[in-house]
Amino acid sequence: MSTHILMIEDNEQNRYLATFLLKQHGFEIVSAFDGPSGIDMARERVPSLILLDIQLPGMDGYAVARALRHIAALDDTPIVAVTSYAMVGDREKALEAGCNGYIEKPINPDTFVSEIARFLPTHPTDEGQS
Ligand code: MN
Repeated sequence: MSTHILMIEDNEQNRYLATFLLKQHGFEIVSAFDGPSGIDMARERVPSLILLDIQLPGMDGYAVARALRHIAALDDTPIVAVTSYAMVGDREKALEAGCNGYIEKPINPDTFVSEIARFLPTHPTDEGQS
C-alpha cells in the first residue's frame, strides 16, 4: 500500500507542483481546492497525511484543521499546514487548530518531499513492494 496524501489547496500552480513532486517520489496524491470538499475527501479516503493550505477562500485552513480534528477516523492522520504567512504567531495558530507541523511557501522542489516525509511514520521507499 502506498502512502496516500490529500492536499487541500486553492492555488492551481501549487497543486500541480506538489502533485508532480509527490508522484515522482511514489506517493499517491489527491487534491481538493477548498475546505468543504477537502473535508469530505478526508472523511471518505482517510489519507495517510493531509497538506493544508491556510489561505483558502471561504473557510480558511485553521477552520478546516479544526473540522478535520473532529473526525475520529483522522486521529492518526498528520495535518501539515502549507502557508506563505511568515508571521511567527501563524505557526502557533496552525498548531492550536490541530496541525502537526508547518511548511512554508513557496514550495521548494528540492526539500518539499523530505519535509513532508518527516511527518509520516514510514517513508514509502522503506516499505516492501505492493
Ligand atoms: Mn491559498
